[in-house]
This record gives sequence, structure tokens and C-alpha cells, in this order.
Amino acid sequence: MTTCKMINKDIVVVGAGAAGLTAAIFAALQSSPETKIAIIERTDKAGKKILMSGGTRCNVLPVSMSEKDYFTDSSIHLLKRIFKSWSVEGCKNWFIDDLQLPLACEVETNKWFPVTNSAKDVRDALLNKALSLNVEIHYSTQITEMQRNHNDWILTASDAKQYQAKHVIWSTGGLSVPTIGTDGAGHQVLRSLGVQMKPTYPALTPLTGQHPGSSNLAGVSLTVGLTADTMIASREGFLFTHKGFSGPSVLDVSHCVTRYVMGQQQRPELAINWTGESKDIWQKRLTTGKSTVLGTLKEYIPNRLAEALTEGKSYRNQKVSELSKNDRADLIQLVTAYSLSWSSHEGYRKAEVTGGGVPLEAIDTATMRLKNDPGLFLCGEIMDVFGRIGGFNFYWAWVTGRLAGLAASKLPAQQQAQEV
Ligand SMILES: Cc1cc2nc3c(=O)[nH]c(=O)nc-3n(C[C@H](O)[C@H](O)[C@H](O)COP(=O)(O)OP(=O)(O)OC[C@H]3O[C@@H](n4cnc5c(N)ncnc54)[C@H](O)[C@@H]3O)c2cc1C
Repeated sequence: MTTCKMINKDIVVVGAGAAGLTAAIFAALQSSPETKIAIIERTDKAGKKILMSGGTRCNVLPVSMSEKDYFTDSSIHLLKRIFKSWSVEGCKNWFIDDLQLPLACEVETNKWFPVTNSAKDVRDALLNKALSLNVEIHYSTQITEMQRNHNDWILTASDAKQYQAKHVIWSTGGLSVPTIGTDGAGHQVLRSLGVQMKPTYPALTPLTGQHPGSSNLAGVSLTVGLTADTMIASREGFLFTHKGFSGPSVLDVSHCVTRYVMGQQQRPELAINWTGESKDIWQKRLTTGKSTVLGTLKEYIPNRLAEALTEGKSYRNQKVSELSKNDRADLIQLVTAYSLSWSSHEGYRKAEVTGGGVPLEAIDTATMRLKNDPGLFLCGEIMDVFGRIGGFNFYWAWVTGRLAGLAASKLPAQQQAQEV
């Protein structure tokens, strides 16, 4: 019979993503040099999502934020408390001063990117910092089971390796892009421990549906105002895809659709204002002038879209000054409150993040520690919080990773792992 050697650590971080790397760094910074910290990562690389983020440029942070940039079914009060622990400015300075990663602000979008526009530089800065602090990383090792053994946690990996640790930081991410290690297996392990979770759903994912008119507008993009019921009104990029719709404005409201499809909420009405301008402005624009309806629309929105929107309309080639009251009202509605014909969504495969997960009520917000356990800390996307497009999701990962790492590092001296 083969016996499996127990690998003893003080702190085991499960998942080498944005939150896990940050947690390990802060745990190591706060601990004595003898403290043994290991990150266990199921894939062969750290920070795969960082590498693919922001179109491989990595939008590290937003310029500013408020809790309104986030979605959760948990208490907003608890969310605010967590964000209070580290300002965007403090986090930005950490990247620049401590990780030696110069950042540049993209003023038009209010986003911070690395000066080099390379997501790999962000991942490498985090990884190198962790390694320089003697954090070990064990790749291609998936934790499939966890159990308590008195004051310790015993973690079992898929290859039957076992780890023993006083403190565990669970940072296994969500279910989005399952092909790169985030397929919800981490949620399963927590569930088996009795941790309660909110039902998960894909978020920031493209929608499927029918383009206006009979043409396929794939590739057409513009900046629109998009409203999902009365809840969200954002003025952001919109893109027609081969299957439907994408772009930040669509991604930001896509969870309303995914939650509807999963039976978690009512069907949302998505209304588009193609130029973001008011009805009054269009009323004036469509009252005077010699230009035709189609000609006028083409001045403000892409030609192909103008043609698609007015396809089959009797007033299409009429002069705007000659429009009947009803036709003008119909046209204004079409331009400022177009009802988007969506059918479904592209799911976790294309989702940037996962909604749902562990509610904030289950943790102590000062430490990210699970309330009913003295040594299990949670951070990042596994929690029931996600942000809109703009660096808000990484900010959540950095803030919660830092809190979990700092708290897990506060090990009583006698608890430090013994070499076996
Ligand atoms: C295409 C894309 C672009 C994005 N762009 C941006 C952006 O520009 N800005 C932004 O703010 N956000 C962006 N995001 C969102 C951002 O990537 C996530 O919010 C963030 O990565 C979450 O960090 P995390 O550490 O919680 O999870 P992850 O980064 O997903 O890390 C979890 C890690 O845990 C590992 N793991 C899972 N289960 C186990 C297990 N049982 N045992 C061991 N290891 C395990 C996984 O392999 C993974 O490495 C983007 C996401 C995608 C998909």
C-alpha cells in the first residue's frame, strides 16, 4: 500500500488568479520569514484570466468607483465596508510603487492600464512578487476535497497529494471561461463543506438576438444609451455580432437576461437610444430641413444601421419636414427607445465574470473569513459580487485578496507549521 506524504504549510492559497496571487503576497508580506505559504493552482499557469483580460491589455483598475458599479444580492452596506479597506488610489499606488508596474490612465474610458499595454506584465509583476517573498506555487494540482482535522485543514488534490494548513484562502474564481480552469469545481468543494451560496449566473456576456431589419449588421459599432427596464442607463459602446449584440453597454446589462433565462427574475426590456440624445433634440431635428429621413439618420448613426432601422417604413425617403405627426413619433421612438430583440445569451463560455456565489453575509468583512470557521478565507469572484466593465472586477479581486491575505497571516506563533 502506498502512503501519501502530507505537505505541511501554514497558509495554503487555492487558485493562482488575481485574488489568490494578491492574497499570497499580502500574507507573505505580513508574516515572519519562516511562514510557509503555498499557492495550489489546477492549471499549468498563474493568472490565465489576467493574461486574456482587457483584450490582453488588462484594465487593472477603474479611475474611480462607487458601490453602484457593482451587482450583488448581498447587503450594499457590507460591500461598502470591504471597499473602505483599500481605496482605488491606494491600490493603484501599490501597483506602481510596490510591484514596480507603471500604469497609464485612458482618459476617455476612465480606466488604468499598464503603460506597456501588456497583460502579461501585470501577471508577471504579481507572480514575481509572490515568488520573491518565497511563496511556493504548485501547478497542475486541483484541490477536490477539504476537511477539518482539529485546528488544521486537510486538502486533498486530484492526484491524491495532501496538504495540511492552519489557514486556507479559497480563491478559485467563478464559472466563466470554463476551459481555463474555472468551471465551478471550486464552488463544489465549498458546497460539500456546507457553505451556502447564491445561485450562480453568467454576467458580462454577449446576448443573442435579431438585428434590426432583415440585414446582418455584424461588425457595426457605435456608442449608445442602453436601459434595462428602469434599472441601468449606460452610455457605452455597442457592437452587432454575428449572433446578436455585445460591447460594454450590452455586457453591463447582460445579467438581467441571464438571470431571466435561469428563472431568477422577470423578462427585462432592453431599450436603446442609438445616439444617446433626448427626444426633444430628435423632435427638432426631424421637424425642419430638406433632408430625407434616411439622409438625416445617416448623419448621426452608421449607414447600415440607418437603413436597417427604416427598412419597410413608408416614410423612409420622405423629407423630415413633411413627416406626419404619427410617423415622426414612430421615428423618434425608433431612434431613442428601440426595443432590442434579444433571445438569449452566450453563457459562461463568453462571460467575463460570474454572478452569485458566496454571500457577503457569510463572511466577516474585515478579514474575508468564513464566519463559522476560524481558518477559511474567501476572496475574488467566488463571492456574490461582480462589477461592470471598467476594471471593477480586478479591483474587487485585489481588495478582497489583500484583506484575506493580511488576515490569514495573523497566525499565532505556536500554530506555525512544523516540518514533517
Ligand atoms: C476575457 C476576459 C477579460 C476580462 N477583462 C477584465 C479587465 O480588463 N478588467 C477587469 O477588472 N476584469 C476583467 N475580467 C474579469 C477578471 O478576469 C476576473 O474578475 C478575475 O480574474 C477574478 O479573479 P479571481 O482570482 O477571483 O479568479 P480567477 O482569475 O478566475 O482565478 C481562479 C484560479 O483558481 C484556479 N482554480 C479553480 N479551482 C481550483 C481548484 N479546485 N484547485 C486549484 N485551483 C483552482 C483556476 O485555475 C484559476 O487560476 C475579464 C475576464 C475575462 C474572462
